[in-house]
Amino acid sequence: MCFWRCGVLAEVADGKVLKLQGNPDHPLTKGRLCARGNAGIGLLYDPDRLKQPLLRTGARGEGQFKPISWDQALDFFAARLTDLKSKYGPECVAFFPHGVASSFFATLMRAFGTPNAAEPAFAQCRGPREVGYALTFGSGLGSPEPVDLEESKLIMLIGTHIGENVFTSQVTAFAEALSRGAKLIVVDPRFSTAASKADWWLPIRPGTDIALLLAWMNVLLTEGIYDKDYITSHGEGLPELEAHVREFTPEWAEAITELPAAEIRATARAMGQAKPAVALHPGRHTTWYGDDTQRARAMAILTALLGSWGRKGGIFLPTPIKTGKFATPPFPGSKRGRADGAGTTFPLASEEQGVTNGLVEATLTGKPYPIKGWIVYGQNVLESIPQRQKTLDAIQQLDLMVVVDLLPMEQTRYADLVLPEATYLERYDVPHIAESAKQPFVAIRQPIVDPLYETKPGWWIAKQMAGRLGLQEYFPWDFPDQHLAKLVEPLAASLAELKARGAATFDGRPYIDDRRPEDGPLFPTPTGKIELFSPALKQLGFDPLPRYTPVIDPPPGYFRLIYGRAPVHSFARSENNALLDSLMPENEAWINNSAARDLGLSEGQRVILENQDGAKCLPVRVRITAGIRKDCLYMVHGFGHRSPALHRAHDRGASDTQLMTRVKVDPVMGGTGMRVNFVRVVEGEEGI
Ligand code: SF4
Repeated sequence: MCFWRCGVLAEVADGKVLKLQGNPDHPLTKGRLCARGNAGIGLLYDPDRLKQPLLRTGARGEGQFKPISWDQALDFFAARLTDLKSKYGPECVAFFPHGVASSFFATLMRAFGTPNAAEPAFAQCRGPREVGYALTFGSGLGSPEPVDLEESKLIMLIGTHIGENVFTSQVTAFAEALSRGAKLIVVDPRFSTAASKADWWLPIRPGTDIALLLAWMNVLLTEGIYDKDYITSHGEGLPELEAHVREFTPEWAEAITELPAAEIRATARAMGQAKPAVALHPGRHTTWYGDDTQRARAMAILTALLGSWGRKGGIFLPTPIKTGKFATPPFPGSKRGRADGAGTTFPLASEEQGVTNGLVEATLTGKPYPIKGWIVYGQNVLESIPQRQKTLDAIQQLDLMVVVDLLPMEQTRYADLVLPEATYLERYDVPHIAESAKQPFVAIRQPIVDPLYETKPGWWIAKQMAGRLGLQEYFPWDFPDQHLAKLVEPLAASLAELKARGAATFDGRPYIDDRRPEDGPLFPTPTGKIELFSPALKQLGFDPLPRYTPVIDPPPGYFRLIYGRAPVHSFARSENNALLDSLMPENEAWINNSAARDLGLSEGQRVILENQDGAKCLPVRVRITAGIRKDCLYMVHGFGHRSPALHRAHDRGASDTQLMTRVKVDPVMGGTGMRVNFVRVVEGEEGI
């Protein structure tokens, strides 16, 4: 039910799933599931599920379709792709995936000849973090995040709210760390669940995090309480860093962050005292203000000064796992290159994960070349990518839009062809190979019931399409079992055992002292050291050391819109689930109590929010609280669905994405900073 991919066991009777529970043999799950994991049955038996292939009969967005057979659907799909390829070249087709199961489709699209694929996991989420840490340590963090909460003496969360974002093993490790006495610093403009457990809650002025991080470095360096031996052995660029942060004192930061200098100093000293067992959580959704790669760099440098990378209680290291692979032909190259700006406009954007907003822009402008087809796999492009109107305008220009999904989400209404996929309980998927776990593991997914209705697993759809497009050599296996057997061949685990237990774990080498030559270089940067000063950024014309750039404050009468997660929903995917809907049917707008009093608002009242560009949301309930700064308004992401075919979620709560008409793009990697929108409370008419 989310990207953490916990292991589940299912109780099945007469072909019906009665109960899901955590697989005790799965290292991330250890027998426990969160509420969403338990509610998987609600997805499987959701009466609104897409049930058969659908061909559009009305205008885009109207939601008028006729059911067709799989043969008709796949023939149509293949014919339209072939037609587009002959007219415009294969690159004119862009792929928008989300989720682990998309890899079969990714293979299909690469084999077809398009390099254009982009998922929100990069440009709307983890991208800046991965780039910032890779610039510093030579490698990013991956998923699950390798934060050694179990061993930490001090945990620092900056804009991340463990407990409201729930990933089973992470939240249990967090709770256990606190109960054995680990200290906690929470930096958040909102009094989050984590803040309520903290030793220090720092309600920072939004957008000023880099100033705080620089001031912390200043204290560690000027007071000599950083890890000198570690930096001497592994660091590069300390003199430049020292000179850079000299002026960034806690007093300087106080004026910017609105946090007392004494608190900044005290928290820096607490970190210095607990080093290296300091878990600076890198966060996950990190596209905030457009300077996000630089903020991630500041986090990474602070981690280095504390000697925490590769050390107990800090950030642990991945352990490589060797897996097998079928020999397949190389993918065709593209002379025209990518259309999303990855590697060019955005020099350090991931070419593997792509820049979604770059593909939207290319579709709108026809530059660097026309994009005529979108294949959308499990990604709600209207909820995941900000500036929704741009996405809608781009969609209206397409010759072909195909959506593969489980439920009739918003984007399905704009598709020419909708293909209904089987859920994770009904299908085989690519195994989870987790190298960034403390104990690395391989976990497999096996169907426990047959696909309902006329739904089909993603692997089957991709393989069928490959056959129709003459690309079958990229899928050289007849059944998923063969694919799985090949993959796990080099592992010291038998396939039968893996199938029986669901997961196999291996010995990890999580700390620097454990490393072996076969693990590769410790810091795979160009210098082989931790690059406190980044020559790569300098060469590209960016700041080689992070610098605070002022953010614009909300205009009078407006709040800064901030957003986050709830423990019982996943993105904009789970709001139609009957079990989860019963726990949280809608979101709320958190407003500071004195601001609410000034506006004459009352608890639970429904209001409409309007942003700086006049965009409005659906009516949303007000939650009045002292637990948020006066200049911010907070809501949980994922509500305010507009698809009438989602009978539970339709028009419930408000969509934060609808209010994000403005973004600040990170010039390093193309991510869309989304915390640059301001909203005010208006009443009356319904949002668009
Ligand atoms: S954290 Fe919860 S929703 Fe995510 S995979 Fe685990 S049980 Fe499922």
